[in-house]
Amino acid sequence: MRKPIIAGNWKMFKLISESVNTATELKSLVTNTNHCEIVIAPPYTALKSTSDRLEGSNIRVAAQDLSTETKHGAHTGEVCGDMIRDAGCTHVIIGHSERRAMYGDTNAVVNRKIKAALGFNLTPIVCIGETLDERDSGEAEMVVAKQLEESLAELTADDLLRIILAYEPVWAIGTGRTATPDQAQQMHASIRRWISDHIGTGVAESLRILYGGSVKPENIADLMREADIDGALVGGASLEAGSFSRIVNYERS
Ligand code: PEP
Repeated sequence: MRKPIIAGNWKMFKLISESVNTATELKSLVTNTNHCEIVIAPPYTALKSTSDRLEGSNIRVAAQDLSTETKHGAHTGEVCGDMIRDAGCTHVIIGHSERRAMYGDTNAVVNRKIKAALGFNLTPIVCIGETLDERDSGEAEMVVAKQLEESLAELTADDLLRIILAYEPVWAIGTGRTATPDQAQQMHASIRRWISDHIGTGVAESLRILYGGSVKPENIADLMREADIDGALVGGASLEAGSFSRIVNYERS
């Protein structure tokens, strides 16, 4: 039985006070939630104060990225895994499509970041997903398979058991255009098949695969009914505690 995860990515949106206020409000709205794990990813500057505020709660804190570097040193602007742990995080988002498109996070870089995160005992939430052109030309599954192959290179079955995947079709991120539950399910099933073929059936059965791309309170329940969708990575609709808590507490049937 895979426990669902609902994660919110606050991107570059909140000052420290805003992050702490939203987290405080969210905490009170989800105190009784235990059907899923809840994760929020504030900007770096707000990680420590937000995780302090959430101490003892059922909400975990993630960073939105980390350095490939694992030793302290002269790497201006970089933040490494033990600093992220030190700020109270348990999870880290890796390979978000915005980082892939704007900041040079290739599959090889994503692979190094996953290894760095695992080395610091952080749970990587690894993002994969095709662009609209790739989907329209019928290459979506091939592109995602290549992302899996290169991003997960040299990882063992035990490593994979410590990872969460997030399928985020680039055309659905921040566009208001969600993949239909059927489209998402098809890709999630194909990802699970890939993991089963390349890593092992046991890992494939345990691995949690989140869907991301314009998830809202109105569409989460339909997505969560699909057999291979184990949660959501939410951008825009996670910024406000009220709407994020409605996603977290989606109607289960
Ligand atoms: C995201 O950025 O990971 C995301 C899914 O954004 P949105 O929910 O706004 O589409």
